[in-house]
Amino acid sequence: MLIRPLPYPDELDVGYAGYVMRLNGMRSMKDLDSLMREWAGCPDKSWREVSRLELISKVANLPVVDFVLRHTTLPLRRSITSYQADLPHGSDRNKEIWWSTAMREARTGAYFCESCAREDLDFHGRSYWRRSHQVPGVLSCAKHGGPLSYCRDSVAFQQAPSHWIGNCEMVDAAWATEVEANNTIARYLTICDGLMDCNQPFAVDHVRAVLFHKGSSLGLQISGRKIKAPLLSDMVIEQCGRQWLALVLPDLAAKADKVALTKVDGVFYMKTSASTAFAYILACAVLFESAEVALNALAGPLPTNENGRQRKRIDIDPDALMVEYVGQGGNYAKVAKRLGITFASVAYRLSSMGLPNMIETEGKSTQKALLAYLDEGCTLQQSAERGGVSQSELLDALRVMAAKQMKVLPNLRNVRPKGSPRSSPLMPDEAKRVWVASDFPAEVVMDGI
Ligand SMILES: [Zn+2]
Repeated sequence: MLIRPLPYPDELDVGYAGYVMRLNGMRSMKDLDSLMREWAGCPDKSWREVSRLELISKVANLPVVDFVLRHTTLPLRRSITSYQADLPHGSDRNKEIWWSTAMREARTGAYFCESCAREDLDFHGRSYWRRSHQVPGVLSCAKHGGPLSYCRDSVAFQQAPSHWIGNCEMVDAAWATEVEANNTIARYLTICDGLMDCNQPFAVDHVRAVLFHKGSSLGLQISGRKIKAPLLSDMVIEQCGRQWLALVLPDLAAKADKVALTKVDGVFYMKTSASTAFAYILACAVLFESAEVALNALAGPLPTNENGRQRKRIDIDPDALMVEYVGQGGNYAKVAKRLGITFASVAYRLSSMGLPNMIETEGKSTQKALLAYLDEGCTLQQSAERGGVSQSELLDALRVMAAKQMKVLPNLRNVRPKGSPRSSPLMPDEAKRVWVASDFPAEVVMDGI
């Protein structure tokens, strides 16, 4: 026996699950999972075999695909992807997504509008969490115009929003008003809304081609070469402001001026996802004159003068190459795949920078062999055995490193500032604190921001 309320339009998956939990007298989501599993006739199945998403969809009397499209933030988080882009959101062709990412939060914290919560209580008899308030960067309620309230911990979704009135944070009203008046942010939010309604993601390579065409027509830096043109990342910061960006892409908020950030500037040339979907959405908001034009461009055919082969000939900037080398664990093949250029081209560039190919497969590790030789003082033979590689393979790696060692060191030092010191989106009060904190790059603080 299980009481099965119907979810409201725009009701968030985890908020709905919290209501089902309370309504059925359960104290935790774990207890609810057991109850739902028993009710569904599969008490002994694991959470991978029968996921919470599958069970809660059944409780809501909806096919999983419909529940995902109406109540989760997955269609937005997965809106632009290089992984299985032909897979509709919530499709049973990949059940791993069901138990892994489908019901994840889109932003840090749990957001609601007090006016909505009070109206819900009067009208429905219960208040509920709205999916539209959980979009990263939303600071005010589209219906009431007032600033959102929020709880720091997403466990708050297990209680109704009205439960938290008076016991939560609230977005600074003046900031919310200022953000509401920002046209680029408004376009970003409208594009997010549009993408949330799509039943399938857009492929990164297609989006990249669309953005490449637009970026080149605007004279922006559209490759990983040395910077000679205005950077998209600088435009996003200029138009959206660092404080607000800390809510969406903290790495971008902390970026120094005129320094490329692959996560954002790479949307023009990275073959696989340069970053989260939100980097691409921000790019669309900055590059296109309206959200509608942006969405139409994404959904339309490729620009006719897009030439994929041209990209393979570009001279990748050594710093961008280094970032990818570090990010891909030193594996040439993975770097080549990420940058969309040939293995031979990557091998030539990286080896001339003194960076060897790190092979990491089962029982074989170049890195382990190198560490044994360089750090532990083992002999060449012992080191090769330790890493499961041949002596000639180890020697090749050492030769590459030795040949350009002195030239490589300054580049290594340059890589770190472009990395990702802060990956988790901030909450509004944190963003405001960071705004005045001294952990921004020195040149940013000196700019008087
Ligand atoms: Zn409201």
